Amino acid sequence: MKALAKLKAEPGIWQTEVDKPDVGPNDVLIKIKKTAICGTDVHIYKWDEWAQNTIPHGMVVGHEYVGIVESMGSEVRGFKVGDRVSGEGHITCGYCRNCRAGRVHLCRNTIGVGVNRPGSFAEYLVIPAFNAFKLPDNIPDNIAAIFDPFGNAVHTALSFDLVGEDVLITGAGPIGIMAAAVARHVGARHVVVTDVNPYRLDLALKMGASRAVDVSKQHLKDVMAELGMTEGFDVGLEMSGVPSAFSSMLDTMNHGGKIAMLGIPPSSMAIDWNKVIFKGLIIKGIYGREMFETWYKMASLIQSGLDLTPMITHEMPMERFAEGFDIMCSGQSGKVILNW
Ligand code: NAD
Ligand code: ZN
Repeated sequence: MKALAKLKAEPGIWQTEVDKPDVGPNDVLIKIKKTAICGTDVHIYKWDEWAQNTIPHGMVVGHEYVGIVESMGSEVRGFKVGDRVSGEGHITCGYCRNCRAGRVHLCRNTIGVGVNRPGSFAEYLVIPAFNAFKLPDNIPDNIAAIFDPFGNAVHTALSFDLVGEDVLITGAGPIGIMAAAVARHVGARHVVVTDVNPYRLDLALKMGASRAVDVSKQHLKDVMAELGMTEGFDVGLEMSGVPSAFSSMLDTMNHGGKIAMLGIPPSSMAIDWNKVIFKGLIIKGIYGREMFETWYKMASLIQSGLDLTPMITHEMPMERFAEGFDIMCSGQSGKVILNW
């Protein structure tokens, strides 16, 4: 079958032929319809230090997709051939303390689809049936194809009560923008998004941010004053991984504020701990999505009118993957979808 794989230890990704994956007794075989390019795929494409240390030679990449169940193992219950699915990309062990307690997103032995095992940039993908998510009919394919990063946004945004709160989102990447849309949809008051990329700040405004702040040109505190915010943000969602963005968040949080951190800093990051202590801040780390409460909420948010369509700025046949990666690397895009 056709696939996109990391065939060389250098920047790039290559189209190749690989064997159709074997289906174990607890697995489903998914015929991929659409995949989306994730920031993680861009790291693998660019072959940064993390990718060099993580990705085995020849790995089939990709983990954002929608497809159709084509066959399944003898032990699988709850799915049938023809079901339209997306899937949770974190494969968990099932035997650690958290897994056994049902806190599966906190598994300490998580394996990543398209990172540690073959991914979805392929005609077919095999995952445990446990990880497959059956899609309601009224979720369009393009939206289902970005459920994985949408899940990061939903998990982070719904970590704390947002109703009537002032929310700061640092980083208007695809995940930050979708988090802004969620915050608006569930009833936050001001949703302020920061970035240094005008294209993405513009998209954040289209998706429901009250204000989009280019921190290379404007002071966040001036914007807060314009909005009549005299105290500070109630909830912070860190979605850039940039240390200066996180420190501006610590500066502008109200006392008792709550921060959910999704962005991955490049290395260890120094902060002013006095801000955390004397403001009494609560900081929560976020990894992946809750299985499967986040998936349930994602479907419900779309069904209740949250429109992610403007997030999908580019769509093309998979053969044009090089162009798709170039667009993602340029920062002049929302999500880029490849049709298989
Ligand atoms: P992205 O790289 O597209 O977005 C990051 C954004 O931050 C970019 O738009 C960039 O211009 C912006 N930025 C740069 N400097 C800034 C500054 N000073 N202030 C504010 N913004 C600034 O990434 P994404 O795909 O949207 O993901 C967001 C973050 O979450 C990344 O760090 C990614 O690695 C991380 N991530 C974490 C998980 C997890 O499970 N914890 C999952 C997926 C992604
Ligand atoms: Zn586990």
